[in-house]
Amino acid sequence: MSEKLTILQQIITDIKNHKCSLRSGCLQAVPGEGNPDSDLMFIGEAPGRTEDAQGRPFVGSAGQILNNLLATIGRQRQDIYITNVVKCRPPNNRDPLPAEVAEHSNFLQRELDLIKPKLIVLLGRHALHWFLPQEQISKCHGQAKRQGQYVYFPVYHPAAVLHNPNLLNDLKNDFIKISAVLAKINQPSVQDITTNESQQSVEQITIF
Ligand code: URA
Repeated sequence: MSEKLTILQQIITDIKNHKCSLRSGCLQAVPGEGNPDSDLMFIGEAPGRTEDAQGRPFVGSAGQILNNLLATIGRQRQDIYITNVVKCRPPNNRDPLPAEVAEHSNFLQRELDLIKPKLIVLLGRHALHWFLPQEQISKCHGQAKRQGQYVYFPVYHPAAVLHNPNLLNDLKNDFIKISAVLAKINQPSVQDITTNESQQSVEQITIF
């Protein structure tokens, strides 16, 4: 096994074995999964009922929407790495509390440090606020933002479509941009800017 896979296996084991304040109310912790060599990392909020039952991220109805969106851009689940801000299901799928997000932060940081994706797709406001707390999803979805070493691409959470079907068009239009964003990131001039970018400032990358 490569060193990278060994480290990922250790992260997954640590996630499965950890004790947090949500553990007594859920069936199991849900680690990230997918290709650790991928250029794309997708980050959601927290497992729901189906994810809690199966121990895998995005395998319920939101996951089905995500799979369909990935298909529209020619990607499959095994091509990308997918994880959540919080690895344990909050009771009744309520929003994770700030203290619960803090308890899980170390796991997401370790996944990022290992995988170092070219582009991080932020699924919904909880993932958005972990990285860019000053932004609003309704204003910044579909816009690539560079901060420090990473480029972020916020989109609505796929589950939002279940409550508001009108958001599906926004999600489809945003997903269509992902390949162009990746191509832009791969341009040498953009890589130079990324390296020189201060850790604090957020810069929007214009694609079209
Ligand atoms: N919603 C999420 O944010 N993550 C999942 O894994 C499933 C639904």
